[in-house]
Amino acid sequence: MNIILMGPPGAGKGTQAELITAEYNIPHISTGDIFREAVSKGTELGKEAKKYMNEGKLVPDEVTIGIIEERLNYSDCLQGFLLDGFPRTTVQAEALDEVMAKLDRKIEVVINIFVDRDILIERMEGRVSCKNCKSIYNTKFNPPSSPGICDKCGGELVQRSDDRGETVRTRLDVYIEQTSPLLAYYEKKGLLHNINGDQDTSLVFEDIKKVLESLR
Ligand code: ADP
Ligand code: ADP
Ligand code: ZN
Repeated sequence: MNIILMGPPGAGKGTQAELITAEYNIPHISTGDIFREAVSKGTELGKEAKKYMNEGKLVPDEVTIGIIEERLNYSDCLQGFLLDGFPRTTVQAEALDEVMAKLDRKIEVVINIFVDRDILIERMEGRVSCKNCKSIYNTKFNPPSSPGICDKCGGELVQRSDDRGETVRTRLDVYIEQTSPLLAYYEKKGLLHNINGDQDTSLVFEDIKKVLESLR
């Protein structure tokens, strides 16, 4: 299935994406992860993306669209894929439609995870992830067994630099201004399914599975 996972920063997209892609055996395509990887490797893309990410702003559309177009052409996407954090603007959504049309394929479902702003802030401020396997934890809501150490691989848990200070609030404002209009875009196409993200991770996943199973 060709799935888009939407929701404000901190909604639980990355957490649910891990579960969905394991269950349905499809690739997890996260533009945030792709940019962070490029930043840590110090590539040209990373240098460009870093300027925007540090401020909580969006990386320019032309950069982001180029990356997704390339990625969707990989053969592992033939059986379906999960887009996490893309599209984030109307221009990106329209470009995605064009890329899909060229590939003679369609987005089949858009899952939107919604959570109140206060909780999103708490979640972002407590988020840590494994440097090695990228598993996501929360110091408050989903702590690892030993502080700072990944349960799955023993790797070091680190906080994202954009999960601190004013950047957290900027990202929420950017979401409201630039990304939330996409909900109406997909609603009009009849693809949008809203999921309450303010419940246990396993319950959120159950609700998502119900939607996906109803479409299979
Ligand atoms: P979150 O999981 O908190 O929503 P992401 O990991 O998806 O955050 O994104 C982190 C940052 O990467 C964003 O704040 C933005 O700077 C950049 N980014 C990720 N996806 C996109 C996109 N589709 N368009 C533009 N910028 C993006
Ligand atoms: P996103 O990719 O949408 O920014 P993440 O999946 O990274 O969101 O989750 C943000 C933070 O909230 C992480 O620290 C994660 O452990 C935590 N989290 C995710 N889902 C839940 C949930 N259902 N209840 C409580 N905390 C959650
Ligand atoms: Zn790990």
